[in-house]
Amino acid sequence: MFGLIGHSTNFEEARAKARSLGFEEFAEGNLDMWCSAPPQLVERLEVTNPSGKKIEGAYIDSCFVPEMLSRFKTARRKVLSAMELAQKSGLDITALGGFTSIIFENFNLLKEQQIRSTTLEWQRFTTGNTHTAWVICRQVETNAPRLGIDLRQASVAVVGATGDIGSAVCRWLSQRTGIKELLLVARQQQPLLDLQQELGGGQILSLEEALPQADVVVWVASLPQTLSIDVDKLKSPCLMIDGGYPKNLDSKANGAGIHVLKGGIVEFFSDITWQMMEMAEMANPSRQMFACFAEAILLEFEGIHTNFSWGRNNISLDKMDLIGAASLRHGFEALSLSLQPDASLAMAPA
Ligand code: NDP
Repeated sequence: MFGLIGHSTNFEEARAKARSLGFEEFAEGNLDMWCSAPPQLVERLEVTNPSGKKIEGAYIDSCFVPEMLSRFKTARRKVLSAMELAQKSGLDITALGGFTSIIFENFNLLKEQQIRSTTLEWQRFTTGNTHTAWVICRQVETNAPRLGIDLRQASVAVVGATGDIGSAVCRWLSQRTGIKELLLVARQQQPLLDLQQELGGGQILSLEEALPQADVVVWVASLPQTLSIDVDKLKSPCLMIDGGYPKNLDSKANGAGIHVLKGGIVEFFSDITWQMMEMAEMANPSRQMFACFAEAILLEFEGIHTNFSWGRNNISLDKMDLIGAASLRHGFEALSLSLQPDASLAMAPA
């Protein structure tokens, strides 16, 4: 059985969700009350692939909301308790969605293996980042040419280049895609220099320097709400893959010739009966989901019960190949831009 650990986008949405599920006391509760709320297994799921293989799983809401990020102990407890519930529920491979994988890594929860009477078995969990990175690369390769961008002549900026997903995207773009120039953006210099050395190239630039040069921008960092983008300085056309969380680029980069695509989202070939993706504001919630969640589904279909994506900057091209092939085989497609009758572009599966 596969598992998905997620959370609401914000506190207000969490309360609305609680109301819709009939948890009135939570719907009325304040943030302090939510801080002490235990995780909930809210849905049992069934997924069938194109060749008729059926698997079962469950969605666990960690009852974490991004407003709790500054409360270290609460965030830590929310993630570990959700993992404990997943393990106790017999889920063999569970994806850590949204902020939960970042909390796990950044708060160094690897040393917190004992939760009450449960010893967490790491092989039951995956960050899902290998599939997310593969999907984002595919979105670049499929969509840039549709906008008339020849990737062999293109500069691609990766914002969050030194992160787990960002570094994997950089490896793929420089070794597989064959782009003209890779622009590496992050705040800390030393990891950027290390990455540049590993890649054997790439130009380290600030965000302000990189944006006007980029034909494609891959955003794989959680950016501050206050970030503003001077769209007049961007190239036209410019493809922006919004791979961060939350996905809020379309409101910041809005202008002629700028095409923002939700990154790291996949669409399944048939409807899935679940409510969770409606809460995640997917355009087609019966079929669309975060690629990290899909990784747990793929690993279950493949019978790979191991922490496939784990730790930081361990994502190899071989693993991306493996999960990418599984993704296509089991009926997933990366979200893509498609031409509308009026020749404007909107988001749709490829
Ligand atoms: P990491 O923490 O490993 O990496 C974050 C990267 O962003 C680092 O390179 C960091 O470097 C950089 N960064 C952070 N803040 C800024 C900033 N203000 N300006 C420039 N660079 C910045 O994260 P992951 O790779 O695990 O995840 C990246 C993003 O992808 C997250 O937002 C995550 O929520 C999202 N995600 C989306 C998924 C999906 O949509 N399917 C699935 C999984 C994750 P430095 O600190 O040096 O700046």
